[in-house]
Amino acid sequence: MSFRALVTDRAADGAVSSRVATLDEDRLPDGEVLVAVEWSGLNYKDGLCLRSLGNLVKTYPHVAGIDFAGRVLESEDPRYRPGQEVVLTGWRVGELHWGGFAERARVRGDWLVPLPERLSTRKAMLLGTAGLTAMLAIDRLEKAGIAPEKGPVLVTGAGGGVGSLAVYLLARLGYRVTAVTGRAEVADRLRRLGTSEILDRSALLAPSGRVLDKEQWVAAIDPVGGQLLGEVLKKVRYGGAVAAIGAAGGPTWEASIIPFILRGISLLGIDSVMQPQEARVAAWGRLAELFSAEDYADLTREARLEELPGLAATILEGQLAGRVIVDPAKTD
Ligand code: NDP
Repeated sequence: MSFRALVTDRAADGAVSSRVATLDEDRLPDGEVLVAVEWSGLNYKDGLCLRSLGNLVKTYPHVAGIDFAGRVLESEDPRYRPGQEVVLTGWRVGELHWGGFAERARVRGDWLVPLPERLSTRKAMLLGTAGLTAMLAIDRLEKAGIAPEKGPVLVTGAGGGVGSLAVYLLARLGYRVTAVTGRAEVADRLRRLGTSEILDRSALLAPSGRVLDKEQWVAAIDPVGGQLLGEVLKKVRYGGAVAAIGAAGGPTWEASIIPFILRGISLLGIDSVMQPQEARVAAWGRLAELFSAEDYADLTREARLEELPGLAATILEGQLAGRVIVDPAKTD
C-alpha cells in the first residue's frame, strides 16, 4: 500500500525543503502498530523540525509531525486491535521517529493512548500536544494547591496553541484567567474562550527594575519563557506557583532568588514528551470531559500537508492563532 507524506530532506549544502510524496508502507520505520492517520496538528516544535532547527531531527529524509490521531490498521501489540482509535503525542515521534505528517505511521504500542470515547480523532488533534501539555500544567498546579477560589491565574502566549487551550481549560474549570498576548486581534477570541482580562504583552515585559512587584496572580502557565517569565515570577502571590512550559520568547532570563524565598513561590517544569503513560491517560480522560470543538471553532484552522512548510515559518514567528490541524488525505 502507498500513502501520502510530507517528506523533509536536507541537501548536501544544508538546505532543507519539504514536499508531498507518495511512499510505500515498507518505507515506514519499525514499530508494532500501523496507524491510518486521520488528523495531525502543527506545533511550535513541528516548525523547528520542518526548518531543521534545534538539532531535533538527526536523519533525513524525515517525516515530521509530533502528534497524530487515527485508527489502528495492523497491530502486533495485543493491547491494540484493527479499527481502534488512538492518539499519539511526544516520545520524540516526529523528531527521531517518523511522525504524523503522513497518511500512515508505524509506531511502538507503548507510545499510543486509546482515544477516550468522547473524543473524535479531529477533536483529539484540536487539542494535540498543546492541549495535553496545558492539561498537565493545570494538574501540576492543582497538586501544588492551586484552586479556583485561591485567586486568578495568568496565561502567557495566550494567542498560541498551548496558551489558548490553557485559557479555555482553566475557564471551564472555574478559574478567573488573565490572558497575556502580543496581538490585539486575538483579544475577542480569547474573551469568548472565557478569559476575564487581557493584558498586553509589552506591558508585562517592560522590566520593572525591582526584584518583587505587586502580588497579582496565584499561579501562571507560561509557554513563552525568556524575560517575560522573569517579570511574571515577580508578580505571583505568596505561596503561588508557575508552570513553565516553553521558550517561544527565548530560553533564558535574568533571575533573582527573592520571589522564591520571600514569597515561597514554586517554579514547576512541565514536560509532555516523556510523560508516563498513566498521567497521559488521566489527562486525555479529563480533556475529553472538558473540551468542546464548538467552543474552540474561532481558533481552529484546517490545513493540507502542502501548506505546512509555509505555516511552519508562521508559527515560528509567533503569528499563528490557536491550532492548525492537518488532514493528510486532503488534496484540494
Ligand atoms: P504557538 O506558536 O502556537 O504559541 C506561542 C505563542 O507565544 C505565540 O502565539 C505568541 O502568543 C507567543 N510568542 C511567540 N513569540 C514570542 C516572543 N518572541 N515573545 C513573547 N511571546 C511570544 O506555539 P505552541 O503553543 O505550540 O508552543 C509554545 C511553546 O511551548 C513552545 O516553546 C513549545 O516548544 C513549548 N511546548 C512545550 C511542551 C512541553 O512538553 N514542555 C509541549 C508543547 C509546547 P501571543 O502573540 O498571543 O503573545
